[in-house]
Amino acid sequence: MQVLKIAESKITIGYGWARNIKPLRDFMNVLHYGHHEEPNDIPLIFAPILSVIILFATMFGLALLFTFNLGIASTFLFGVIIYYLHYEWMHLGHHIPGYNHIFPWSNKLKTAHQLHHYRNENYWWGITNSIGDKVLGTYKTHKDVPMSKSIKHINYK
Ligand SMILES: [Zn+2]
Ligand SMILES: [Zn+2]
Repeated sequence: MQVLKIAESKITIGYGWARNIKPLRDFMNVLHYGHHEEPNDIPLIFAPILSVIILFATMFGLALLFTFNLGIASTFLFGVIIYYLHYEWMHLGHHIPGYNHIFPWSNKLKTAHQLHHYRNENYWWGITNSIGDKVLGTYKTHKDVPMSKSIKHINYK
C-alpha cells in the first residue's frame, strides 16, 4: 500500500536522524526506545517530563498563534492536558497484566498494543483509538503481519 510505504519511509528517516545525535538518541531512549526494550518497566511507560512540557508549550503556542486569544489558547491547552492524562492512563492499563479497561473497545486496543510490543513495532500504534492505524493500514489481523526481529531494539535498526 503506497500510503503506508510513504509513512514508513518518513518514520525511518525520523528515527535515523534522531539516532545520529547522542543527546537526542538518549532522549528517544527514555521517550520510546527504552519502553520497547522493557515494556513492563512502569517508569518507562510514561513520557519524560521534558517531552510533556515541550508538548504542552508547543500546543499552547500554536493555539495562540492561530487565534491571538489567550482564553481560547488556555482552553485548548486544558483539553490537551486532559487528553494527555487519558493517553497515559490507557497506556498504563495496556501494560498492567490482567487489568481490564472499562469499555470493551479499549480492551481491543490493549490487545493491539501487546501486538505492537510483541509481534511487530511497525503496526498497531494507537493507544487511545485505532483511527490512525486504520487510515495508514497498520491495524491488521496478527496473522497477516510478520514477526519483527527488531521488536525489542527499535533503536538499532
Ligand atoms: Zn507500550
Ligand atoms: Zn512503540
